Amino acid sequence: MGDCIFCKIIFGEIPSVKIFENDKIIAFNDINPKAKVHILIVPKKHIESVKHLQAIDKELVGELILSAQQIAKEKNLEGYKLLFNVGREGGQLVDHLHLHLLSPEW
Ligand code: AMP
Repeated sequence: MGDCIFCKIIFGEIPSVKIFENDKIIAFNDINPKAKVHILIVPKKHIESVKHLQAIDKELVGELILSAQQIAKEKNLEGYKLLFNVGREGGQLVDHLHLHLLSPEW
């Protein structure tokens, strides 16, 4: 957790372009976008990955998806992808759970 780049963003120790924030979730632009819209939706609780989710996190996961839906609505995105990369073999580079919101629209 000490060296976690997303924890540092959550604590404001490194900058980000913030899209949304509440007490449990933060969303910010991906620094290296893979689509015209590429936003990361991140729980403030440090959970390493989908593999590390527990039953107690059920509501939080729902809130991540609903946050993505809300952001997409505010940005008038007609279509988008929501993606969790899981584990190194699954393309996960940052070991703090995050949901990618990707859209080809501006
Ligand atoms: P993943 O491969 O699923 O772990 O995704 C990690 C994502 O975090 C990548 O798309 C990176 O471009 C993005 N990323 C890494 N560092 C930062 C940062 N400081 N601010 C915003 N996005 C970042």
